[in-house]
Amino acid sequence: MNKAKAVFLDRDGTIMSDPGYISDPGKVEIFRGAVEALKALKKAGYLLVIITNQSGIGRGYFSPDDLEKVNARMSALFEERGVRFDGIYFCPHVDENKCTCRKPQPGLIFRAAHEHDIDISVSFMVGNSRSDVMAGVAAGCRLNFLIGSETESLSQNGILSVESVEDATEIILGLDVKGCRS
Ligand SMILES: [Zn+2]
Repeated sequence: MNKAKAVFLDRDGTIMSDPGYISDPGKVEIFRGAVEALKALKKAGYLLVIITNQSGIGRGYFSPDDLEKVNARMSALFEERGVRFDGIYFCPHVDENKCTCRKPQPGLIFRAAHEHDIDISVSFMVGNSRSDVMAGVAAGCRLNFLIGSETESLSQNGILSVESVEDATEIILGLDVKGCRS
């Protein structure tokens, strides 16, 4: 049986708003524009896996239980619109913990790949910070999409600057149509 392919997604600022260390489920605002894009990725056979740094836990700003409630609210908002995530992986640590799961470390991607039998080389990372795409590069994703206005040069192979998840999705689905393997 073929391994699965996936799109790894950052959470805050990528598929929902990022007010900073969000801990109140009532404040979750998903990016509506991402809904149709994620649906299209699912239809094309991609697992949707969230990979998120949540150092607010390590810093004592909120508890794992608070995080769970925020994730549940976010998932519910997407599910109401027909999008179901296949996994949500988070790192609770701060830099000083020197863990292997806090992006730009690739640990969470490796764990997700192991647990869902994902072939990382045919999978993608989408996020709005440099640490997101660096994690994807370190893990060996096929391409890594950096959303937003970071203008520093992206000379590193495998990183593409995009406007949004919708934008990244269009490129991913275009690659599939062409059937080319980079
Ligand atoms: Zn960690």
